[in-house]
Parts: sequence; structure tokens; C-alpha cells
Amino acid sequence: MSDCIFCKIAAGEISSKLVYEDDRVIAFEDINPQLPVHVLVIPKDHYDHIGDDVPEDLMGHLITVAAKVAAIKGVDKTGYRLITNIGEDGRQTVIHLHLHVLGGAKMPLRMGPAD
Ligand code: 5GP
Ligand code: ZN
Repeated sequence: MSDCIFCKIAAGEISSKLVYEDDRVIAFEDINPQLPVHVLVIPKDHYDHIGDDVPEDLMGHLITVAAKVAAIKGVDKTGYRLITNIGEDGRQTVIHLHLHVLGGAKMPLRMGPAD
């Protein structure tokens, strides 16, 4: 998609701090990290979010890469969270499928609605 910021990052048209790349996937540091480790894992091809007819092998590969990223960032033993926000209630702000790899601190217990 021509006006998609993550498509531009995947194409190298917008710079990012690269953590991992292969032929289908790229992982880069979030520009506004919420935790000491905050990396985004995205497919190079554009899908809006999970459920947007994402091929199962690609979806599996994204999750496998997320685990690899956690190891690269040194949080695979201490633990981390893998999050993908979908749509308005999910507070997705960039409409290009991405997984957040979040770690380096204890997460809040709560995962309910916003206050
Ligand atoms: P969402 O809210 O859609 O799940 O997450 C989008 C994420 O993308 C946010 O955490 C935001 O900080 C990050 N982000 C937005 N624009 C850019 C950018 O241009 N570069 C990088 N590295 N991250 C971005
Ligand atoms: Zn895109």
C-alpha cells in the first residue's frame, strides 16, 4: 500500500532500527517504546491485521520470528508479551499487521478495559 508507513519501512523508504530481517518479515524497534524491549514484527507484504486472509504459514512465521527477536533482545528467559492490536477497540493505530514484542519489565496483571 503506497501510503502505509510500515510498507515504507519494509521497503527501506523510511529508516528504522532493524532487529531482524528475512525474505518475508522485518523486525524493528518501536519509535515510542512502552517498555525497555519494544520491537515490532511485520510481514513485508501488506495485511491490515490478523483475520485479513493472512496465509497461515506466514502467520506462523511471524510468531516464530517474534520468539527469535525475544532471544536476540535477551528476554526469552525472563519472559515477555506478544501483542497484536486489531481495529478500533483494540487501539490499532497503524493499519499494517504487526506483533509487539514487549519485555524487560514485569507486565501489569490486568488486561481488562481501559479506565
Ligand atoms: P498499534 O497501536 O497500531 O498496535 O502500534 C503501532 C506502533 O507503531 C506504536 O507502538 C508506534 O509507536 C509505532 N510506530 C508508529 N510509527 C512508527 C514509525 O514510523 N517507526 C517506528 N519504528 N514505529 C512506529
Ligand atoms: Zn502496509
